[in-house]
Amino acid sequence: MDIDAVQLTQQERLEHLRNRKCFICHQTGHQSGAHRGGKFTPPRNNMGRFVPKKTGADAYKKIRAIMTDLPTDEKDEALKLMEEAGF
Ligand SMILES: [Zn+2]
Repeated sequence: MDIDAVQLTQQERLEHLRNRKCFICHQTGHQSGAHRGGKFTPPRNNMGRFVPKKTGADAYKKIRAIMTDLPTDEKDEALKLMEEAGF
């Protein structure tokens, strides 16, 4: 066993799997295997900020938030355009 790995409860383990979190640093965007050798640092942008990997669930949340704010007729228009674009 990796000496850096923290023992998680069953619930924490499931939560990590569900949210695709790293078992070691608890961030999203990579798996614990990326820490092999203890040299891994999560990807950062040129401002030094951690850049999480984009997931389908993230995209869905953003699209849903945008759609929720639209009036019904604009929602229908957006859905029509997305269908035409092959979504
Ligand atoms: Zn990690």
